[in-house]
Amino acid sequence: MKKLIDKLEKEQRLSREEFALLLDGLNADTSAYLFERAQAVRNNVYGHQVFMRGLIEFSSFCKNDCYYCGLRLSNRQAERYRLRQDQILSCCAKGYDLGFRTFVLQGGEDPYYSDDKIIDLIGAIKKNHPDCAVTLSIGEMSRQSYQAFYDAGADRYLLRHETINQDHYQKLHPADLTIQNRRRCLQDLKAIGYQVGCGLMVGSPFQTRDNLIDDLLFLKEFDPEMVGIGPFIPHHATPFANEPAGSLVQTLILLAIIRLMLPSVLLPATTALGTIDPTGREKGILAGANVVMPNLSPTDVRSKYLLYDNKICTGDEAAECRVCLEKRIETTGCHLVVDRGDYKKLK
Ligand code: SAH
Ligand code: SF4
Repeated sequence: MKKLIDKLEKEQRLSREEFALLLDGLNADTSAYLFERAQAVRNNVYGHQVFMRGLIEFSSFCKNDCYYCGLRLSNRQAERYRLRQDQILSCCAKGYDLGFRTFVLQGGEDPYYSDDKIIDLIGAIKKNHPDCAVTLSIGEMSRQSYQAFYDAGADRYLLRHETINQDHYQKLHPADLTIQNRRRCLQDLKAIGYQVGCGLMVGSPFQTRDNLIDDLLFLKEFDPEMVGIGPFIPHHATPFANEPAGSLVQTLILLAIIRLMLPSVLLPATTALGTIDPTGREKGILAGANVVMPNLSPTDVRSKYLLYDNKICTGDEAAECRVCLEKRIETTGCHLVVDRGDYKKLK
């Protein structure tokens, strides 16, 4: 097992068969070694720095119906809200004072936010905070829209591929959402020049070990700047309400494998990981992650942006989250830094 881990570190890839051996064969001992190597590789590229991204969940309206997500259109119980531009700008101002240098604008696919509104918003954030990066996470759009947002100043885009296997994709999404269009979006984003993040939920319903291997091979081929990966967590008002959540250990193992495969990748220890385990995010950092994404949304809307059940930190002020995370990250031997945290290509 250690030989395979060393090979992955050295060659930054494994064959399908080798990934299968690795995923099936890891035990407590060898996983500890995998995490140790992942940390060493991360430290070699980024040192002990952990970057923070201020997440602003600006709309809980969504026109899509992804079966796993609490914001899906068919969930009539979901409370919907939209933040106005002035509210979003005040989240950014507060975040800036707390040391955030990246703002992530995330929302459901909400047609109310026309291209012009998004372009205006990006321009206003960039004008107030020219030293900050803006990341968008607003779903599938046309190439023209992606280009217009980029021209307005957006730096990065997060769009998880969710699963690269077509049959599996169709078990997670209604027929109007396809892996072909997801791939088209990701390719457009990359061609335009964004730092692009794809990713997946670990333990999503119907996911097999072979699906995960396909996802790893896809990540290697696509070579994204960021990978968003966290456990699937059921939401009570979705078709997957009774499905089990993804496992902590499997998520940590995948984080570490991705770090070894893509040494420079920006890899968040996600809120979902902190939701299934009280110290999940710290464990994620110890498995090679180097990004955290605390919430900057106003407290009165936090509990309305529920992709899954039991989401953490829905009652905390941004400043409280900042202090809490700082303490948590320090326990891992890493440090939160005031920095845009751009992708750094290893020489
Ligand atoms: N609408 C945008 C952004 C919001 S959803 C989009 O879909 O890209 C952001 C991510 O949350 C999704 O990519 C999905 O991987 C994750 N997510 C949704 N429901 C989830 C659940 N039940 N458990 C864990 N993650 C979930
Ligand atoms: Fe909408 Fe994104 Fe949820 Fe799908 S995952 S229903 S696109 S918010």
